[in-house]
Amino acid sequence: MKAIIFDFDGVIHDTYELAYQINVEVLGKDLTHEQYRDFFNGNIFERVVVDKEREKTAFENFFKLQNEAFKNFKIDGNIKSNLEELAKKYSLFIISSNQEEALNIYFQNNKFTHIFKEIMGAETHQSKVEKFKYLFEKYKLQSEDCVFVTDTLGDILEGNKAGIRTVAVDFGFHGRDRLEKGNPFKIVSSFDEVVKVIKNM
Ligand SMILES: [Mg+2]
Repeated sequence: MKAIIFDFDGVIHDTYELAYQINVEVLGKDLTHEQYRDFFNGNIFERVVVDKEREKTAFENFFKLQNEAFKNFKIDGNIKSNLEELAKKYSLFIISSNQEEALNIYFQNNKFTHIFKEIMGAETHQSKVEKFKYLFEKYKLQSEDCVFVTDTLGDILEGNKAGIRTVAVDFGFHGRDRLEKGNPFKIVSSFDEVVKVIKNM
């Protein structure tokens, strides 16, 4: 194992409530938790959208509100020390569907940008499969040199397409039952367990 690729939302930071509340605000009060969680069964940008114009405005409003909130988010101390520990042995990356702008606000405010070799968000590509391919090529890595840590079924499926093994966490957007459908390498319930599993891979 040479590289660990982390998803951001639901893995590095628990952003679920914020993301759900903003979506209720910009998409409408009738959005249920179940409907919102379903957004992440596949690639978020590929979900079926009826009103494209409304969706575009909603997206812009989402990021405006999210960036404000991200300015005040503090990274969890245990996650931070685990990442510092992992960085001694592995190259760390972020592949997220969130905006790089938002991720940079978060990591710069937490003085933690240096821990990752590269942070790739929606601006790099909307497909995580393409971002994996780009990363493999740029850093001369094989898919089997890497592991992907994520919290959603959609991400596991994209990881599968890129031939990368996934360690899924059940403390993010999706629960264990849903994660199992993607057949991840392992499902764990804490960040400490993530580290333990990876060290044995
Ligand atoms: Mg996530």
